[in-house]
Amino acid sequence: MDTMVYKCVQHLQTLLFPSVCRLCGAASGRVPGLCMPCLADAPWITTACPCCGRALPAAHDAQFCGRCQRHPPAFDATTALFHYRPPIDYLVKRMKFSGELTLAPVLASLLAARLRTRAAALPGLLIPVPLHRTRLRERGFNQATELARRLGRELNISTGLRCCQRHRNTQPQSLLPATARRINLRNAFSVRNIPRARHVAIVDDVMTTGHTSNELARVLKQSGVEQVEVWVIARTG
Ligand SMILES: [Zn+2]
Ligand SMILES: [Zn+2]
Repeated sequence: MDTMVYKCVQHLQTLLFPSVCRLCGAASGRVPGLCMPCLADAPWITTACPCCGRALPAAHDAQFCGRCQRHPPAFDATTALFHYRPPIDYLVKRMKFSGELTLAPVLASLLAARLRTRAAALPGLLIPVPLHRTRLRERGFNQATELARRLGRELNISTGLRCCQRHRNTQPQSLLPATARRINLRNAFSVRNIPRARHVAIVDDVMTTGHTSNELARVLKQSGVEQVEVWVIARTG
């Protein structure tokens, strides 16, 4: 099928049958967009470092991982829902590169459900990781903004869309060797409007090395924010 036609059909399907599973096509039940068996099989992160969100062995006592103990990042906590593995990576790529924006509320609702159960106070503002304006023009949307909007709506938190900007069109981190990634991001972000909230969460689709979140958290803290969390759908490593 022609890609355009396929996209239209799929968009119509989600409009007409919002409870169809986006992975297997079965009736999805209570959670919109994904059925219970697909959710049960998803690569959930169960035990993780509370600071960076990296998965840890189940027996770990919820202390910071070795890396965070040695080099504490600029952010204070991370919530990552899934390992960045099939089939979650497939959903994220479809949202990001095929422009299937209807997947953003599906993924954000799952993250919101996790966050609603926690005892700790929620942040006062959500800040999507900004895209450089050139990339935003190419893609037509920022997936982090789409996720943050939905999370904000579900958790009743405002979204700071104009807080931060990315002024260097950095190369995608995934294309660079590890040593170049940190340099690539240096001075990539700035705070345009100082957030009123003292406690904020950076929102992104995927966290890889954590350098992007770290750099954004660093400038946010420089601007006076006291507590910075990172909320992502999936985490590598
Ligand atoms: Zn399914
Ligand atoms: Zn850690």
